[in-house]
Amino acid sequence: MSLVSRDPVLLTPGPLTTSLQTKNAMLRDWGSWDAAFNAVTAKVRKQLLDIIHGHETHVCVPMQGSGTFSVEAAVNTLVPRNGHMLILINGAYGKRMARLVEMMGRKVSVFETAEHVPTTAADVDRLLSADKSITHVGLIHCETSTGILNPLPQIASVIARHGKSLIIDAMSSFGALEIDARSVPFDAVIAASGKCIEGPPGMGFVLARRSVLEQSAGNSLSLSLDLYDQWVYMEKTTQWRFTPPTHIVMAFHEALNQFVAEGGQRARLARYTNNYETLMAGMEELGLKPFLDPKIQAPIIVTIHAPDSPKYNFKDFYNRVRDKGFILYPGKLTQAETFRVGCIGAIGAAEMRQAVNAMRDALIEMGISESVVAA
Ligand SMILES: *Cc1c(COP(=O)(O)O)cnc(C)c1O
Repeated sequence: MSLVSRDPVLLTPGPLTTSLQTKNAMLRDWGSWDAAFNAVTAKVRKQLLDIIHGHETHVCVPMQGSGTFSVEAAVNTLVPRNGHMLILINGAYGKRMARLVEMMGRKVSVFETAEHVPTTAADVDRLLSADKSITHVGLIHCETSTGILNPLPQIASVIARHGKSLIIDAMSSFGALEIDARSVPFDAVIAASGKCIEGPPGMGFVLARRSVLEQSAGNSLSLSLDLYDQWVYMEKTTQWRFTPPTHIVMAFHEALNQFVAEGGQRARLARYTNNYETLMAGMEELGLKPFLDPKIQAPIIVTIHAPDSPKYNFKDFYNRVRDKGFILYPGKLTQAETFRVGCIGAIGAAEMRQAVNAMRDALIEMGISESVVAA
């Protein structure tokens, strides 16, 4: 029997468990012309720029849709049609970015490392020296398919030294890991409402360098994913260009207020790090090993090797853990049987400990020995 008295805790890369306050903010209807609603949009845009200390250099353009819509809008608007974009890949989201660049008709090159190998600044330096036709570089900050962290500040400074433009998919890191526009040069960082800010899913945003966005009129090959038009319209009218996701904006605003009240990015990172450490201590007790070297692991989502037992299968494990109140995530690796556990969302170490207990009990029920020994 599943726990019907409360929603399961989402240990996934998004959507995430949100707070009751955030959910409550979705109980009212708003008109898209309403000045009070549009004031909230303006406030959200300001709060997002606060997080990267970007008011001097960048502007915030929100976009309807899931995170990928905003990545596509950023590429489609900020990369000129004759641009050439290098995508740094070590997982599924890097591959997705390369695919959408190609579909948007821009020239694309890729540099792919294994899923447990971060891209380095030296790699990027070598690639940009070897091909001067590259105009833009796309980087996935935390590659959510494993949880690996790519060294953003070092890579960004090499790209700036070469005079190229950097577009960062920081979907799963934004708000948790530091991204400071005053010290890290980039032309765009992209994230979404339903990740580390702990809002509901449904809108993304691009924090784009103002001088670059100003030059991007007419680049877009899409009507709806035109970041420039969205920005100009919003600046002129205070409104969204097409129907806004009103309930999501209100709840995202509420989530941003809680983010600030908690103590901002540092406090959020501290909580997630505590969640991560609680999880890892539990996995060690159960005899389960992480896929990544902890040195390159972000405390956001962890890939765990499945127990080496013929009695294991993910679906059974997932269902048993879900019935105890926790939603896990399947692995995304081709070469190894893994599962993933998110450390993000409106949860703390107590929930992580309960999740470990749920996994232990599920493994015992399945007759898998590691956990029996540990129990
Ligand atoms: C979640 C995520 C996205 C966006 O995925 P959507 O399903 O479109 O929300 C993009 N990149 C990364 C690294 C992500 O974690």
